[in-house]
Amino acid sequence: MRCSKQAAAVIGLVFAFVLAVDAQRGPGASIWFEGARLIVGDGSAPIENSAFLVEGDAFTWVGRQGQRQPPPGAVRVDLSGKTVMPSLIDGHNHIGLVNEKDGSNSKANYRRANLVDQLERYAYYGVSAALSMGLEADPDLAYQLRDEVIPNAARFLTVGKGIAATSIGGPTGEPRLGIPYGARTEKQGRDRVKELHANGVRFIKIWVDDRNGDVPKLQPNVYRAIIAEAHANKMEVLAHLSRTSALADAKDLLRAGVDGFVHLVRDRDVDEEYLAAVKAHPRVWSGPNMPAVPTRDSIAALAETLPANQIEGMRKQLAAQEAKGNPPNELFELHCRNLRKIHAAGMVIAMGTDGTGDGFGSHEQIEAYTRCGMTPMQAIVAATGTNAKVLHLDRLGTIATGKEASFNVLDANPLETITNSRRISRVYLRGQEVDRQALKTRFITSNN
Ligand SMILES: [Zn+2]
Repeated sequence: MRCSKQAAAVIGLVFAFVLAVDAQRGPGASIWFEGARLIVGDGSAPIENSAFLVEGDAFTWVGRQGQRQPPPGAVRVDLSGKTVMPSLIDGHNHIGLVNEKDGSNSKANYRRANLVDQLERYAYYGVSAALSMGLEADPDLAYQLRDEVIPNAARFLTVGKGIAATSIGGPTGEPRLGIPYGARTEKQGRDRVKELHANGVRFIKIWVDDRNGDVPKLQPNVYRAIIAEAHANKMEVLAHLSRTSALADAKDLLRAGVDGFVHLVRDRDVDEEYLAAVKAHPRVWSGPNMPAVPTRDSIAALAETLPANQIEGMRKQLAAQEAKGNPPNELFELHCRNLRKIHAAGMVIAMGTDGTGDGFGSHEQIEAYTRCGMTPMQAIVAATGTNAKVLHLDRLGTIATGKEASFNVLDANPLETITNSRRISRVYLRGQEVDRQALKTRFITSNN
């Protein structure tokens, strides 16, 4: 579309005025958003032609257009044709170890600048909070970041160091990098929990996994002591499950009183005994952690923020799959079958990416859920309202009066096609619009 010089000048003036108004509004200013389809995040029907008011960092009114007028002096934002959903919450990841710019993976990368860079990547893709699950190479830095609010960045949550049978890493490439606390005895397990409690940690992460015989496995008497100590301190225990013995371990962890799983059973199909145990423990939740399969669409989204050589690698991987005629991914199919079964059994489905720092994995997870039979609405609720509930993030997860104003404005409706969650027009965190353009420019230029 062409426009005359005069029209361009007028548009320029209006734009300058909007910027000026925007610059003037302080923390107490109000913004009135109207016209969007609004997905609340609790599974209720979307509100068509919504209106909502944001004051400071919170939603102070949520309803329909015409139900009330904006307060005098409020900045008005027209969102006609857009869809608004709560920001995503990633309940399981390992931020800080990978450097997204060069692809390296090491303890040495776990520095403030790298962590903040990754929290900004999460913000870019509409994620407001990310729970780092136990590979805290520098716990003091982790606790410090946890207690900060950084503009244009997701909130950093942490379980501190997770607990395995031993902190000693296995063979080269062992994914825990030798970071966890080791607990070979019940006393060691209890002591680790006490130390984490003293640091304000709410969740204990345990790895029940011998990495195919490469490292010792956390023993049942030790994880029972950990769970008992955690519960005595009003903490909860979240378990990693192995690729080789998950079903048997998960059954015993349920008997032992575990609070959540950050993987699906992924060594074999779940059986009736497991489903009965799931039903008998209705408060225990699962963050399925589906194996991510790169698609054209996800590669295109990641190309906005990752270096060209990494994108090239993903394209080659995808091309190789296509050249083979896209054979079924057995591991993915197993996850799908088990997700369907536990979902049908009524298990609470949450969401975690097990991702590193690119910030995009939440979109891939919810897409995977829908490929395994969940509706887009169910997938969105898992990553928003349910995640907030199971992680006790009382101000996040839904769009309602009093909640934190962290939300995504989308160009298309994700209830029709879940990949529309990626068609992000704007991201707001804590009442402030994230400057995605500035972030993107920095991600891309610093890649060179
Ligand atoms: Zn993990």
